[in-house]
Amino acid sequence: MVAILTLISAIIALAAAPGVCSNSVTLVKNGRPASIIVIAENPTEAAQQGAKDMQMWLQRISGAKVQIKSESKIEKKNSRALILVGDTKRSRNLGINPDKLNLEDIIVRTFPQALVVIGDDERPDGYNLKGTVLAVDAFAEQILGVRVLWPGELGEIVPHQSTIAVNDVDIYEKPILVDRRIVNLGYNGSFGHAFGDYWDRFHKQHPDWFALQPDGTRDNSQPEHAGYPSQRLCVSNQELIEQVAQDIMEKLEKNPQLDAVSVSPNDGGNQTFCLCKKCESWDAPEGKIVQMKSNNGPIPHVSLTDRYVKFYSEIAKIVAKKYPNRYIGAYAYHLYLDAPIHTKLHPNVVIGFVPGSKVYQNDAEREQVRSNWLKWSKTAKHLFLRPNSLMALHALPTVYVHKLGEDLRFFTDHKMMFARYDCNFHHWATNGINYYVLAKLLWDPYRDVDEIVDEYCTVGFGPAAGMIHQYFNEIEKITNAIAAERQRPTAATITRYFTDETITKLDSILI
Ligand SMILES: [Zn+2]
Repeated sequence: MVAILTLISAIIALAAAPGVCSNSVTLVKNGRPASIIVIAENPTEAAQQGAKDMQMWLQRISGAKVQIKSESKIEKKNSRALILVGDTKRSRNLGINPDKLNLEDIIVRTFPQALVVIGDDERPDGYNLKGTVLAVDAFAEQILGVRVLWPGELGEIVPHQSTIAVNDVDIYEKPILVDRRIVNLGYNGSFGHAFGDYWDRFHKQHPDWFALQPDGTRDNSQPEHAGYPSQRLCVSNQELIEQVAQDIMEKLEKNPQLDAVSVSPNDGGNQTFCLCKKCESWDAPEGKIVQMKSNNGPIPHVSLTDRYVKFYSEIAKIVAKKYPNRYIGAYAYHLYLDAPIHTKLHPNVVIGFVPGSKVYQNDAEREQVRSNWLKWSKTAKHLFLRPNSLMALHALPTVYVHKLGEDLRFFTDHKMMFARYDCNFHHWATNGINYYVLAKLLWDPYRDVDEIVDEYCTVGFGPAAGMIHQYFNEIEKITNAIAAERQRPTAATITRYFTDETITKLDSILI
């Protein structure tokens, strides 16, 4: 913390010297407001939130509550500096036009007596974005020296200064991924398993739309499994394909801001996908052997990916005629995880890739994921990453930040459009460093991982930074050693690594 605070003090001291630079803006002076936060008459949601965040950080740093006012309420004789948050007439007069910003681009820039903090808050179709909130975050972090490392007071690093002045700030950033999320058991309708209501809707009228079972029937009336409707479809049926396309077009029609509609198969339950001749003719005969799960034991079968890629693509072909700029979302998952061998994917299908949850505890699994991603990237125009890897070893200490960095760069270099990391189980003490590095990499996958780790240790732990850093290094070595065994870790593996002796040694670093 010391180094950062010294740096901030230096910036503030430099900026506070009068007459040094025309773009020096004093926001708070000696604990009293010296500025006004200005928003438009009809601010975007992100601008309203951004203004509140700005007010909160300035107050927490200096104790001064800077007022938020809409633009028309600023008096003509006002002599205070203006913090223009979001799109305003004044920021447009200064030459900052948010219409020229792309999805969530941000600008933070000083002018004489003004600070502009703005981001792209709206897609061309009116969908709300968070650009201005992100711009305020960037300002708080990069200029004010605020850091949010983990939830709760201890994780919020706020420097204290009675005077806040900024000088010659010019930040322009552009997110590389269009959507970046870390969630805990999230669900997203655009990509989730999609055909939950099909059995009820269609089984009486169209029994032939459902998967041919090993017993020769098309009875898919199996009960829900762990909350999942698990009925499978006969995906080569042209009438069914037309029905699915029709349903998708209705959803797109109803909700003009919907980017994508899912066509991912149902999950869970018996995994007896269609065994009819036509569906099987869509499979690649030389595909990897996978195991369908049935009541009478496993049924070996070639990978189902080629079949599903054709199903997705046939639907996309119909939908794209009416909606050429919107997407079909589908998972690469389970029995259809391996990249297709022969079948070409329609460019309007975005493939959501769900790698196994143990990629950082098993190098063999990680290599497979990367090589499979590379193969998918040759057929798909856009890929999206939906990992469960934060699950890791649950609450056990685990650090895999360097591999995380390598992978995010690799995926970004090979067509990753966006990423949603699931299974953040909030193990902040033992896994928090992974979450923090991930959050930073999702904004910029090319950032240097060591620099982020240094920052986390220095800002979060002050004089203890060195020992915390060493502790993380030791844990990363253990994590890498487990992964180097190249097999899924079991309880026995873990107890071999986390012995009493190892834990005592790790503890001794921290004492
Ligand atoms: Zn079939």
